[in-house]
Amino acid sequence: MADPRVSVIEDRLKKVNRVLAVSSGKGGVGKSLIASTLSLALADKGYEVGLFDIDFTNPSTHIILNAESVSPTEENGIIPPRVHGLKYMSIIYYSSGRVSPLRGVDVSNALIELLAITRWGETDFLVIDMPPGIGDAVLDMIRLVKKASFLIVTTSSKLAFETVRKLAGLLLEMRIPVIGVIENMKMRESSFIREQVEKMGLRFLGEIPFDYSLEEAIGDVNKLLKTMFARKVKELAEKIALQTLGD
Ligand code: ADP
Ligand code: MG
Repeated sequence: MADPRVSVIEDRLKKVNRVLAVSSGKGGVGKSLIASTLSLALADKGYEVGLFDIDFTNPSTHIILNAESVSPTEENGIIPPRVHGLKYMSIIYYSSGRVSPLRGVDVSNALIELLAITRWGETDFLVIDMPPGIGDAVLDMIRLVKKASFLIVTTSSKLAFETVRKLAGLLLEMRIPVIGVIENMKMRESSFIREQVEKMGLRFLGEIPFDYSLEEAIGDVNKLLKTMFARKVKELAEKIALQTLGD
């Protein structure tokens, strides 16, 4: 039997204009920092932005944004708290901050449940911090959130790009929109990633250099927004907004 929550999800996301799934082939490439900073940058441009952390095994945007003192409120569903102007939602509000030992069907259920109860309301961009790789959450997103388009993050390493090749290949095969690829933590001149991305027929959105000041800015949004990293993400935000709203 069809899961009745699936149609509820569609309804919940009706007023969300664009869903940007920030994803990657492997962990540790900067998805959470990019998803958080991109959300702040879009909000700064005057857009209504939601940020949804669905990396259930390693949620981390709440640490980046220092979002632990607020919590969602219940009213015909769940209203996400405001965090630095963003509508913010994470599994941590329902797992008391403990790393959730969810797997397989549990991940799927938790994601469906959160999608079905969260009231995003009028939203220009819903940014999703995805778990790495091609797991249940990615497949569920594709199945349940038809308006999702993917933003892929990689480092400059061949090893990272090999994992991107698999993820992007799957998305292309399923005809899921891919906004493009961001090369993060770049440390030296090389056109390897750009070339590979373009060879796959995808858009290379740009690169973000390795920023030594970033670690110190985690948990302090004002500091974060002053980093070179954030300046680069703001440039990318402009590009992404133009590209996705123009579609
Ligand atoms: P993911 O969500 O993909 O696992 P994170 O956003 O948690 O990745 O980032 C992984 C680590 O890399 C963090 O310690 C983060 O501070 C660091 N990092 C990410 N991007 C950069 C960058 N451009 N410069 C320096 N450090 C970075
Ligand atoms: Mg992460």
